[in-house]
Amino acid sequence: MTQTPPISYRVQPSDPSAHVYSVELRLEPATPKGQLFWLPAWIPGSYLIREFAKNIVRIEASTEAGPIAVEKVDKDRFRTAPAEGPLTLRYEVYAWDLSVRTAHLDQTHGFYNATSLCLAAEGYESGAHRVTICAPEDPQCANWQVATTLPRLDGDQLGFGVFEASNYDELIDHPVEMGTFTHFTFEAAGVSHEVAITGRHSCDAERLSRDLKVICESHINMFGSPPPMDRYLFMVMAVGSGYGGLEHRSSTALICDRDDLPQRGVSEVTSGYRQFLGLCSHEYFHLWNVKRIKPAAFTPFRLNEESYTELLWAFEGITSYYDDLGLIRSGLIDAKSYLELVGRTASRVYAGSGRTKQSLAASSFDAWTKFYRQDENAPNAIVSYYAKGALAALAIDLYIVRVTDGAKSLDDVMRLLWTRHGQTGVGVPERGIEGLVNEVTGEDCTDFVTPFLYETEDAPIEDLLADVGVRVVFRPAESDGDRGGTAGKWAEADVARAGDLGVKTKSLGAGVKLTHVLDGGAARAAGLSAGDVVVAMDGLRVTGGQLTARARSMGPGTSVEMHAFRRDELMTFTVQLQSPPHDRVYLRLDDSADADCLKRRESWLSTRED
Ligand code: ZN
Repeated sequence: MTQTPPISYRVQPSDPSAHVYSVELRLEPATPKGQLFWLPAWIPGSYLIREFAKNIVRIEASTEAGPIAVEKVDKDRFRTAPAEGPLTLRYEVYAWDLSVRTAHLDQTHGFYNATSLCLAAEGYESGAHRVTICAPEDPQCANWQVATTLPRLDGDQLGFGVFEASNYDELIDHPVEMGTFTHFTFEAAGVSHEVAITGRHSCDAERLSRDLKVICESHINMFGSPPPMDRYLFMVMAVGSGYGGLEHRSSTALICDRDDLPQRGVSEVTSGYRQFLGLCSHEYFHLWNVKRIKPAAFTPFRLNEESYTELLWAFEGITSYYDDLGLIRSGLIDAKSYLELVGRTASRVYAGSGRTKQSLAASSFDAWTKFYRQDENAPNAIVSYYAKGALAALAIDLYIVRVTDGAKSLDDVMRLLWTRHGQTGVGVPERGIEGLVNEVTGEDCTDFVTPFLYETEDAPIEDLLADVGVRVVFRPAESDGDRGGTAGKWAEADVARAGDLGVKTKSLGAGVKLTHVLDGGAARAAGLSAGDVVVAMDGLRVTGGQLTARARSMGPGTSVEMHAFRRDELMTFTVQLQSPPHDRVYLRLDDSADADCLKRRESWLSTRED
């Protein structure tokens, strides 16, 4: 082992039952002026100020001569008193958030991001950081192992031991899983890939390995081999109900429904498994787009405050576009299944009037206070930079295909981003994507992109999809859970007969809570508000999904009396039902498409290598 760097940590899962990690940080030498320590307020990839330091419950400092004072300076900084010689900080961190963004510990497993556990020492961030990850002493945890891509200095593969990052940024980009996970490996493009699954599950490891390999290779082929890391780890937390992922430089932390993992003996791609593969595809694509090709606003990261950029649509939207495209390009799903996914994405965009009020650039910029802090007014006020960003990427892709007569595509823009920004570490300037699109096409795209990137127009996907023989169709939601993507079951007469309230709901024990009241809808016009609990419709009790179902069974224009509690006051509203908006989208292949159309479609859905 090389010489210990000035800053090193011992991370001990000391009390799994109380969800407490004990951390010992050693810094040498201590500075005679006092030393500042800080913890990030947010974690890259998740744009919300989370104030991780709030979970530090006890902290003390000492030197060889004895204890020294440590004071809190602000929400995430501490300062130790002036001292001589090596300095040791000891602190405890409460870790009881089962998410990919923070830290978690109990008798079944431990997971942490160093953004939650490892204080940075000001002035030392660019040097090496060594971490000894210690096994828990609790006998219930006797068989635990460790999965992480943090470079290992000492200890057996999957064992507890000593690890080292070359700087603080690297330290916080390798989350750590510990427990009795299932572990297996596969190779993609000659690079070792690992999967570690925590939680109860019955995953078909062989099939998952086979499917992940083709997805990874599809993305690697597009950007060019070799991939930008020498190993990769999918860390999966399988739970009863959950969904999410966070991208890292050589790993990803995922949370999913255990039933979405491929089950032994089943060969079809269920919609749950398709969603899980889409999530893996998404986080893997981030290896290039956002982990290495970064907005200038993130180079370097400023981790104690919001880092504003209008470009999240490019980093999350383009990634969302390619995550589904990766599934069809790798042959795991067919065109029909792929078009269903695009239809669902479009339905997420069209189902809210917020898209007419917030641009994609503004959605990116305000992610910190709006997208990540959605309230009851969100559908009326904001648009998702993931969903509309994916439609923007689709539109830009098909625009390039159209302008270059099929010679170029968004793949060429991604490869330029990779060589100019990813491989060089130079951040992408605000509005920097357009210049690369111009370079690829030889045309100025300003008039094309401005309306849907910087203004609130819809991306012109109907017109552009016609080029590849795909029709976009709009219809109303048939029920509360209708996510679009398919033609639905209704005939035209059913559509004409349906009434609509313009609400989203959640079932309570007694009654139905209005979680969202949509602008322009019947409930809004009648004075109902988000938070109201509807208990009766035309004098009859309502529960669960009945509210929408009953409105659908009554025609538009019908007047209904609704009783609802606002706080503890019972109120009466007369609601005039409307026709449901045609805001669910599905795409279908146009049977009359000519040979040119079919050729363009074929080229769109397959990887166009350089
Ligand atoms: Zn993402």
